Amino acid sequence: MPAEISQFLCASDNFGVLLHDSATGATASIDACQEAPIVAALEKTGWTLTHILVTHHHADHVDAIPPLKARFGARVIGPAAESKLIPEMDEGVREGDRVKVGSLEASVIHTPGHTAGHIVYHFAGERLLFAGDTLFSLGCGRIFEGTAADMFGGISKIATLPDETRIYCGHEYTLSNARFALTVDPDNPALRARAAEVEQLRQAGAFTLPTVLGQEKATNPFLRAADAGIARTLGMEGRPPVEIFAELRERKNRG
Ligand code: ZN
Ligand code: FE
Repeated sequence: MPAEISQFLCASDNFGVLLHDSATGATASIDACQEAPIVAALEKTGWTLTHILVTHHHADHVDAIPPLKARFGARVIGPAAESKLIPEMDEGVREGDRVKVGSLEASVIHTPGHTAGHIVYHFAGERLLFAGDTLFSLGCGRIFEGTAADMFGGISKIATLPDETRIYCGHEYTLSNARFALTVDPDNPALRARAAEVEQLRQAGAFTLPTVLGQEKATNPFLRAADAGIARTLGMEGRPPVEIFAELRERKNRG
């Protein structure tokens, strides 16, 4: 497999991720939180930045685009719908478009809700998903520009990918997500095991990501809105999954 990945923290809880194609040397930064940690990761790996793949327009994902572009001349690809909000974008992409990083190829999936134009990048050949702020381990992004139905639609698209898909996300939020998840799905043994693992990893200063889609489908309440046990805990038995999802999001906002 020619794909190599470097994952590191940027700012307080953002992840920086570099995707490197060892066949061609092409290297993409997924989003661009802060210049210094991304440059440090490039120096450590010896990779040269050629692309920036942007998931959405929030400052903590785009602030380092201008300095990185000035330094490396990297090609900036992002959601066409947010081209006015993202600095120095070279190419806008939409649902179904293909994005190449050297010999690696992603398809673009539109996952609105966190922002209206939010996209995620699925490298099917490498079984990799860069989910930005749509899906987190044991959680999902806040809904800033859309409805719960929008967000549920995007997450439902992600749920159709292969279970082995490794998922990289925009933030290390897993510990607080785990604590919330246990309140709505307390009898789920897979969730309890994952929550214990997450506590241990964070105590050791280790990352909880990447995660794997199959594990998320077994543990993440936002991917389990059709689960009868969660509906029962919420007092919403028989209600459609999109309503359960909306209630989960509301409760997480309040929690
Ligand atoms: Zn965001
Ligand atoms: Fe973010």
